[in-house]
Order: sequence, then C-alpha cells, then structure tokens
Amino acid sequence: MTQWRGVLREYADRLDVTDATPIVTLGEGGTPLIPAPALERRTGAKVWVKFEGMNPTGSFKDRGMTMAVSKAIEHGAKAVICASTGNTSASAAAYAIHGGITAAVLVPEGRIALGKLAQAIAHGAELIQIRGNFDDALEIARELAEGYPVHLVNSVNNDRIEGQKTAAFEVVEVLGDAPDFHFIPVGNAGNYTAYTRGYREDLAAGASTRMPRMFGFQAEGSAPIVTGSVVKDPDTIASAIRIGNPASWHLAIEARDETDGYFGAISDAKILEAHRILSSEVGVFVEPASAISVAGLLERAEAGVIPAGSTCVLTVTGHGLKDPQWALKTLDGADVQPTVVDAETSAVAGVLGLAVPV
Ligand SMILES: *Cc1c(COP(=O)(O)O)cnc(C)c1O
Repeated sequence: MTQWRGVLREYADRLDVTDATPIVTLGEGGTPLIPAPALERRTGAKVWVKFEGMNPTGSFKDRGMTMAVSKAIEHGAKAVICASTGNTSASAAAYAIHGGITAAVLVPEGRIALGKLAQAIAHGAELIQIRGNFDDALEIARELAEGYPVHLVNSVNNDRIEGQKTAAFEVVEVLGDAPDFHFIPVGNAGNYTAYTRGYREDLAAGASTRMPRMFGFQAEGSAPIVTGSVVKDPDTIASAIRIGNPASWHLAIEARDETDGYFGAISDAKILEAHRILSSEVGVFVEPASAISVAGLLERAEAGVIPAGSTCVLTVTGHGLKDPQWALKTLDGADVQPTVVDAETSAVAGVLGLAVPV
C-alpha cells in the first residue's frame, strides 16, 4: 500500500507547484465520499456525503492551507496571518508550524467553537481575539498583510481556492462523472467558488461530461448573498458561516450563474434537525455549519427541484468534535442526560430491556 501524499503531490499536474515549491503537507485530501441511504429514502435522489471533517485538522480548510502555506514559504514568507471563525485558524496554525514558520490568527472574541480555539492554541499560533465579528477581523488581517511582512492566508488568497478545488477532482474520480447537483455551506463563498473551478477544469479536461448545479446555503441570520445586502451583525449557531460580508461574493454570483445554481437560506432549527439526521441516521458527525448542506438538500427536494434519481453530492465541511455541544441537546434545547446505574450487569440489562433467554 502506498500512502496518500496530500493534494499538492496527488494533483501536482493541476496546481501551480514546481520543484521550487517546498511542499508543506499533513496528508490532507483523499476524504471519503459516503453514500447516504437515509437521505435517498427522504428525497428519491442518489446522495453522497463528502466528509471533509476527515482532513488532518478536521475541516476542508487544510486543502487550501497546504497550498497557501507552501506558496507563502516559496515566496520567502516567515509568517502567515488570517482572520477566522475557527477552522482557518486551526488549519493555518498546524500548517505553519509544520512548515517552520509563524501563524498569527485573528478571531472574533468569545464566538469561536472551543475545539477550534484549542487547536490554534495547541499548535502555537499567535492567537488574538478581536472585539468585533469575523468581517472586522478580516479587514484588519488584510490591512496587516498590506503594510507588514506577513502573508495573508484567507480565502481571498487564490492559492487557497486552488488547493480547495481538488475536492471536486476527487468527487469526479469516485463517481466517474460530476454529480447533477452539489450542495455546500456558504460563508465567504471561497469553497463554493473552488468546487465550481474544480468541476469546470475537469469538464475542460474531459474527465467529466457536465457541470453540476451548484447549490449553496447560508444561515437565515447570516445570509447576505441570498438577501443581496451585507449583514451587519450576522447571527447563527453555525459559527463557521457566521459571515456578513463574504469575501468571494462576486465570484460566487458568477459561479451560480455559470452553473444554473442557487443560494438559499436555512433556519438554525432546520440546521440542527439536519445535524441530527446526519449523525443518527447516516453515521457522520459534523459541526452545525456542515449540516446546512443536508438541510438544503431536504428543502430543495421538498420544493420539487430535485428530480428522482438525480446524483447529489453534499460537502460536509467540518468535524463534529470541533463543536460537540449541539449533540448534547435535544431539538427543543433540553440537555440530554445519559443514564447512570450501579456497576451491575443486571442493572445495565434492565436499562437496555434485555431479557434472559429461556
Ligand atoms: C470555512 C467553513 C465554511 C465556509 O466556507 P467558505 O469558503 O467561507 O464559504 C463552512 N463550514 C465550515 C466547517 C468551515 O470551516
């Protein structure tokens, strides 16, 4: 068996990597595409889940970060900087330390999931909490990168989009063609843009016969692309997509128009419902933002937009262990209390409703 070598080596011929590029990889990419019969029963479509939580730091950001950090070092950078709702900071911190440089990460104070904060700190990033939201943090990161010797690794950096497009290549390789529909969470819309680019390149290279319709979803309290205007105080439990002024807004509109795509808004209640379906019926544990792909599929199927038998791929962007508190609540917000019994077999059998065979 040969080990998966990370996206820069696996797709070297389709990325701007040369012998001069110092490849900084943690083995990202090559994530599973998992059939989801529970979602097929509900929608009549053929459904696969692209589980990006299986990347080294637990989100798709690693695909972009291997490229962004490698290119930054190729260009002589000693430090990278990013604004983050959490996953970008975790990924930047890990790849920077692996590449032997420094990462500075700006996050909105008190609004980042504990698992992500812990990752950035564990990997030794210079972590600074900003009294503001993600959009404020991104503005500061951009200004710092313009005025100081630090290299910006947010998705406004095209290297990030380049690395992330490899996920579309993997989908096409596994299915043998592009799907009819691709469902994806949208925050800054970098990943929506990246998949569209990947699918477009596959089509041009003859690896596939069609472009999927790209269906992106934002949370209702944070849906600037859907409503067409900047959201000053974006609000949703899905912290990874709590973004009021998406950096790749215009690219995303172009991608939507090119693919006969769609942007929709989903309530937090529907996101949590989809989160529950994914974990309890498919066996895939994601963070809330990721579940919006599932909620989006269910909503569009209900709207009658998804013909029976269509192939649908759903990107689920981040691992459930990053933000596990939502699993410990019922849908109406009560705490889930695991049962406690004495350390006796009969007591456990009683709770499980097991009877002694006669
Ligand atoms: C970053 C992120 C998103 C949003 O991706 P964009 O490229 O900003 O649209 C969605 N889900 C998770 C888990 C993320 O980390």
